[in-house]
Amino acid sequence: SYLERLQALEPQLHSFLAVTADKALTQAHQVDARIAAGEAISPLAGIPIGLKDNLCTQGVRTTCGSKILQNFVPPYESTVTQRLAAAGAICLGKTNLDEFAMGSSTENSAYQLTANPWDLARVPGGSSGGSAAAVAAEQCVVALGSDTGGSIRQPAAFCGVVGLKPTYGLVSRYGLVAYASSLDQIGPLSRTVEDSAILLQAIAGYDPKDSTSLKVEIPDYVKALKPTLDRRSRRRIGVIKETFGSGLDPVVEAAVKQAIEQLQELGAEIQVISCPQFRYGLPTYYIIAPSEASSNLARYDGVKYGLRADDTNLLSMYTKTRAEGFGSEVKRRIMIGTYALSAGYYDAYYLKAQKVRTLIKQDFEKAFSQVDVLVCPTTPTTAFKAGEKTDDPLSMYLSDLMTIPVNLAGLPGLSLPCGFDAQGLPIGLQLISNVLREDLLFEVAYAYE
Ligand code: GLN
Repeated sequence: SYLERLQALEPQLHSFLAVTADKALTQAHQVDARIAAGEAISPLAGIPIGLKDNLCTQGVRTTCGSKILQNFVPPYESTVTQRLAAAGAICLGKTNLDEFAMGSSTENSAYQLTANPWDLARVPGGSSGGSAAAVAAEQCVVALGSDTGGSIRQPAAFCGVVGLKPTYGLVSRYGLVAYASSLDQIGPLSRTVEDSAILLQAIAGYDPKDSTSLKVEIPDYVKALKPTLDRRSRRRIGVIKETFGSGLDPVVEAAVKQAIEQLQELGAEIQVISCPQFRYGLPTYYIIAPSEASSNLARYDGVKYGLRADDTNLLSMYTKTRAEGFGSEVKRRIMIGTYALSAGYYDAYYLKAQKVRTLIKQDFEKAFSQVDVLVCPTTPTTAFKAGEKTDDPLSMYLSDLMTIPVNLAGLPGLSLPCGFDAQGLPIGLQLISNVLREDLLFEVAYAYE
């Protein structure tokens, strides 16, 4: 029935780049057989999921939303998708994204535009826009996205679903096509906090195939879910003062402030917290992420993967392949990154950005010595119209103002719906905790939800 719904909605939404119906049905029958045989099954068994198309799936085309990978069929499976398959989850297909996860509206996909299910003229956010739209429209139950600067949380906010970016290193990046390796994390998009916890449980944990994977014990996230906040532990919640400045849509501000009042009624102690370096997050990110991207994307040379331009001269084949294969936003980032990393500029840009990154981290460290969870809007506005910001990259970049510092500090952040604006578009509330305290995010989010 999910496959039927998915197909029926696809002509309007365009959230999937590929639908693997036959494979899904075969897997579903296998799960049925396991249930019939009386086997104990995981809570994910038989659950239809969507996978962002930057997660490698063995034998299934993985395009990353790019023409340069239009024929790329990975010979291996990413760790997360392997873990989900082992739990019996059923992948319905690969979801649309901004090319190489660079973007905030999914409009940078080389293949199609995805619509926001709440208003088809608006973007679903990005870069995990296909995953967020698919979950919001119930084309699948849950989906995976990736978040380098907000790409799970921002589309979750725009589509009215729950999106979690886990602690850097908690979820293996093996098989996730790299954008900016020191920031990328895979995480769940779901309609409920409980589903998010179940999904994280299945994908979190050490993986020797990812050298940045953390060797830590994974707590029982579902156990952290209680109908109300634990009054005895009196959770301290900090409101990030700097996120309520100019540029914040008053309707978003009102909804977030109301959500904070509700958290207080649930028994949380509310404090105002200042993170003065927060505002440097965006410029810092736009040095570090393009730098890492320019290096990561050097591998697409027409030899090893996907597209190869027709040319007998090696050097011009490289150039032609990259000129034809990459879209304009990707090229912009490669140029910015290459410039920032060049000799003579490295100290002025990349090194400086890394230092500011440390300052941002220190702001958070100080905050978490005073509170358990930080709260702020996920995005300054609700979903914007398709085409509205495509000619203005700076204004597009601004939609990640509040999510980016979380990636720079390697922290977990969760966005959950907290109301609607006058046009009926969803508003997102962002919760941030200290490293590896996803349990606290789930506790607070679940009590609020
Ligand atoms: N929108 C941001 C960017 O364009 C973040 C993307 C992401 O998190 N993958 O880089």
